[in-house]
This record gives sequence, structure tokens and C-alpha cells, in this order.
Amino acid sequence: MSDCIFCRIAAGEIPADKVYEDERFVAFRDIAPKAKVHLLLIPRRHIESLEVLETADEALAGAMLRLLPRLAREAGLEEGFRTIINTGPGGGQEVPHLHCHLLGGEDLPGF
Ligand code: AMP
Repeated sequence: MSDCIFCRIAAGEIPADKVYEDERFVAFRDIAPKAKVHLLLIPRRHIESLEVLETADEALAGAMLRLLPRLAREAGLEEGFRTIINTGPGGGQEVPHLHCHLLGGEDLPGF
């Protein structure tokens, strides 16, 4: 059994509030939301972070990006949304399984 929490969510081994899944991706609500809508989109396959993406992963990465506006629309974020990918400890990545935060539904603080 994997000890990666996001692998285990993707496999259905631990519960999550899933909003989308297909053969390559799963999206679920962040357990500690930083905005009214806060989703996490992950690939099912364990990829630690952006740092280890390879040329062979380009189609997967592109599909992941293209999924985000669809998830945002389905979450009612008609006015727009924010996406964040934290990478490595210096980027604040806490879970070492590639994931994209999708946030919106309220005024978000400026950067
Ligand atoms: P990051 O700091 O970019 O690695 O973000 C990890 C995110 O995963 C945080 O926003 C956590 O709140 C979220 N998280 C951790 N465990 C779970 C879980 N079991 N279900 C949903 N979200 C989680």
C-alpha cells in the first residue's frame, strides 16, 4: 500500500470529497480550504512534483491544465479562478504528489 496520501485518495483507500475523476485524474475538495471554492487536481499516477516531469509527461501535463477551466466552470467560478502549484519545500509543497490548487468564489488577496 502506498504511503502517499494523494495516491490513497486516488485509489479510494481514504475518503475525500471528490468532484471529478477519470482514468488519469482526480479532483477533490481541499480539507482546509483557503477560499470558498478550493479544489485539488491530481494525476492518478504518482509524480512527486513539477521538478520530475519528463518529456513523456507533456500530454498529461497539458491535459491537467486543460481540465482546470472545466472544473472551475462546474464549481460555478464563472468570473475566473486562481491556480497554484507549489513545488518543493521552498515553494511550500507539503504533499509530495503533484497537485494543482484551484481557488475562487470570493475576492482573493492580491499577490
Ligand atoms: P501543498 O502545500 O501545495 O502541498 O498543499 C497540500 C494541500 O493538501 C493543503 O492545502 C492541504 O489542506 C491539502 N490536504 C492534505 N491532506 C488532505 C486530504 N486528506 N484531503 C484533502 N486535502 C488535503
